[in-house]
Amino acid sequence: MKGRVAVLREYGGDFELREYPLPEVEPGAILVRLTRAGICGSDLHIWRGEMKAVYGETPRDLTFGHEMCGRVARLGAGVHTDSMGQPLREGDRITFAYFFPCGRCRVCLQDELGNCPRKGRPNRVAGTPPYFNNAYADYYYLRPNHYVFKIPDEISDDMATPVNCALAQVVYGLQRAGLRFGQTVVIQGAGGLGLNAVAVARDMGADRIIVFDRIPARLELARAFGADHALSLADLPTPEARIEAVRELTDGFGADVVADLVGYPEVIPEGLRMLRSGGCYLEVGNIAPGNVFSYDATALVRGNTRLVGTSNYSPWAIPQALAFMRRNLKRFPFERLISHTFPLERIGEAFRQAEWQRREGDPLRLSRAALRMDGD
Ligand SMILES: [Zn+2]
Ligand SMILES: [Zn+2]
Repeated sequence: MKGRVAVLREYGGDFELREYPLPEVEPGAILVRLTRAGICGSDLHIWRGEMKAVYGETPRDLTFGHEMCGRVARLGAGVHTDSMGQPLREGDRITFAYFFPCGRCRVCLQDELGNCPRKGRPNRVAGTPPYFNNAYADYYYLRPNHYVFKIPDEISDDMATPVNCALAQVVYGLQRAGLRFGQTVVIQGAGGLGLNAVAVARDMGADRIIVFDRIPARLELARAFGADHALSLADLPTPEARIEAVRELTDGFGADVVADLVGYPEVIPEGLRMLRSGGCYLEVGNIAPGNVFSYDATALVRGNTRLVGTSNYSPWAIPQALAFMRRNLKRFPFERLISHTFPLERIGEAFRQAEWQRREGDPLRLSRAALRMDGD
């Protein structure tokens, strides 16, 4: 038996599908037959070539993708349940963390598995056993003793796709930021992360949620996901105008929590200036190396500002994310988060369509694309 893996041939360009043999499944491990793989903002950074410092000047045998869900194809010896104790059988739909905390270092010992400095990262060189190390492929190999969670029947594969990345990330991040009942939140950027953050903040009891983006379709979705004020950069073209808008909507105080879910460092200084005294800035968006910003350190001190950077999450964020989604199925249109799916063999086209930078103002542009590996 073999499965396909998508390999990027040139930055901003097309992929090649290569076939590899299915690996032996070690005791405690799980081989997953993937059904969906999302194209997340991080994947667009990699595809565009904005992460050359990590992956080289030209992509050599580069495979990637981390947002995904699938079905149990083979269970390793000794695996009988998911991490919540529910029976697990071949064919069951599952989601899981895409990174592997060591579980035994001094950071993990402080209950911070997402911060594990020794966490196993996916190997991105195609052809490295067990071959299925990333999401743009037919299979994914879950290393032994990993965290794995059954997907409730009410949640479709499309809806479950962002659970292990965008949704778990904001569930974890907003809790790390200390968002409390009744507070005011600003979300910078209404992409995949931003829309999930709006809905999660609403569910966590935020009183007022303000969202900034430039794409009308995203602003409309932000309203559907619970934003009170979805404001267009077209109407508020300068940082000063946007900061003023936040001041006006918060009785002059500024927001309790501001979250960057854009991914470009230019938004950070204006976001910091949207905070109330003692507020928290949650930085999630920037993942490409070299994203430098400049800010007055004295303003951080005088503002009693908390700055919380967050990448990855503790695995508990996944069952929290699934429970959040299940209890809000009637409240938020999760089925709209993935707007388009493409079969794996059309992955190059999917990336070109998902590319929003060149498609500004295009009313037909995608909100979020995913690959599908289960039939056409
Ligand atoms: Zn992601
Ligand atoms: Zn560790």
